[in-house]
Amino acid sequence: MDSVDVRFVLVETSHPGNIGGAARAMKNMCLDQLALVNPNRYPSADATSRASGADDILMNASLHETLDQALEGCALVVGTSARPRGLYIPELTPKQCAEKILLEAHQGKVAVLFGREDSGLSNGELDRCNMLMRIPTSQDYSSLNLAAAVQVLAYELMVQRGEAPLQRPIGDEERRHPLASANEMEGLFNHIEQTIIATEFLDPQNPRQVMRRLRRLFNRADVDRNEINILRGILTSVRTSLDKV
Ligand code: SAH
Repeated sequence: MDSVDVRFVLVETSHPGNIGGAARAMKNMCLDQLALVNPNRYPSADATSRASGADDILMNASLHETLDQALEGCALVVGTSARPRGLYIPELTPKQCAEKILLEAHQGKVAVLFGREDSGLSNGELDRCNMLMRIPTSQDYSSLNLAAAVQVLAYELMVQRGEAPLQRPIGDEERRHPLASANEMEGLFNHIEQTIIATEFLDPQNPRQVMRRLRRLFNRADVDRNEINILRGILTSVRTSLDKV
């Protein structure tokens, strides 16, 4: 089976056994790109023993100090959460999420973020995400073990790769430009922020939730590279007119 261009990013994992369990879950399902952001204890004998026959995935896992580094080269970014997080991030089931990943992964690398065992992903980390995957669970106990959550999505990706090629929804013609990368989106957000400070729409002393809401608006809009260029061109033109007055 072909591999998929998707990177599973484990953010600040506390228990090395979960890193090993995640590596094993991935290898079972033909996935091989694991990235670790600031793991609590790593490398570790616990990780290696839980990985069992998937120690090659661990050996090849990339280690990063920041999420930014782990997202290098990625376009679509998917967050995962045990609880609804509100604030306009589209929420998908594992099946819907796997469909979206398979549609996008041949145009640019996809990253899926898995959070800390105790507190999940922070709001700042969710600000980087285009969508959120939530595994349906009992209302009384929604938090899966980290490696189990990895397994569910890895399995969906495996099942759907085995099925007939996906049909794009009607009206959603082939994307003509690649999806903007995570770094290009950061460039856009910085540019917006500087511009609206300059126009005095945003008060840096009292920024409220303006940037967070704008991030979530653009993150769910599937922005492509050409659209980023248009938006940044508009921002530059605002700046130029300001400088003239
Ligand atoms: N108390 C934390 C639970 C973290 S569980 C919280 O409320 O977010 C550790 C990680 O496993 C989560 O950050 C997420 O990446 C994944 N995970 C656990 N349960 C999940 C679920 N039901 N749906 C999606 N991801 C889940």
